[in-house]
Amino acid sequence: MLKVKPPDGYPPEKGRYLRGNDFSPVAVCAILDTFDFNIPSELQKLVMAGADTGAALSGMLQTENVGLEKMICNIVANPNIRYIVLCGREAAGHLPGESLLALKKNSVDENRRIVGSGAPTPYLNNIPMEIIDRFNNQIVSIVNLLCKPGEQDSRAPGLDPKVVEKAVWSCYQETEVAFMDYTLYDTGAYPEQAIVHQIASRLTEPQEIMAPGKSKMGMGFMLHKLLPRTDCQRCGKRTCLAFAIDLAKGKCCLEECPVLDQPEFVGDRQALDKLLE
Ligand code: SF4
Repeated sequence: MLKVKPPDGYPPEKGRYLRGNDFSPVAVCAILDTFDFNIPSELQKLVMAGADTGAALSGMLQTENVGLEKMICNIVANPNIRYIVLCGREAAGHLPGESLLALKKNSVDENRRIVGSGAPTPYLNNIPMEIIDRFNNQIVSIVNLLCKPGEQDSRAPGLDPKVVEKAVWSCYQETEVAFMDYTLYDTGAYPEQAIVHQIASRLTEPQEIMAPGKSKMGMGFMLHKLLPRTDCQRCGKRTCLAFAIDLAKGKCCLEECPVLDQPEFVGDRQALDKLLE
């Protein structure tokens, strides 16, 4: 069976995940449906279950755009990964789980919008089309254990670490195993070279947005793309979009969003500073 050593630079994107067995055919994606400063222990247990059972990567996904793009970059950098086990509760605001499933099923349209996703901004503008196609070809199947938003029953399959463990185990068996409605086994590595791609810039044609005559609203939408988009209200605004629009109007400043101080948003913060210069 074909297995490859992941290249230097794998995994290219940082995030809330654990790196496990590089030669495993499966990654675990638990949807983060809360603020990232208040991650519930049951989600952490799902991620641990994935890593302990032998997933290549096991982590959390929060947003339907940049978060999903980072996950895609990490997966195409390791051709051994052929399955994703999707678990946790769907996040009602961002619908990242639905967006992942829709991406695999329908890909994106000419505007890089994920076809069939009901999320607010399911656009994959920061990675080349080649990577989106590669992701969809490399991933054989997404094992969908995703629970509905707000699910509280810890025995639901998508919240049960034992079920996640069984799903991961099934993916790396040498012969076919029935797991729920899926037939799973290790198909071996995707027969093309790894692609190591890092999201260099989160800005799509910023000069267009900054050009004279563009509305404050347009600028607000651009700024919104770079905010954490948790809608946590710690800045005193109802949503990140409201904050972004006030930011564009000069009615507030970046320091009022404490979430931007977290290390994972350093790049976004720099890009925001640049836009607001
Ligand atoms: S802009 Fe406001 S709502 Fe959005 S993450 Fe920052 S503090 Fe939270």
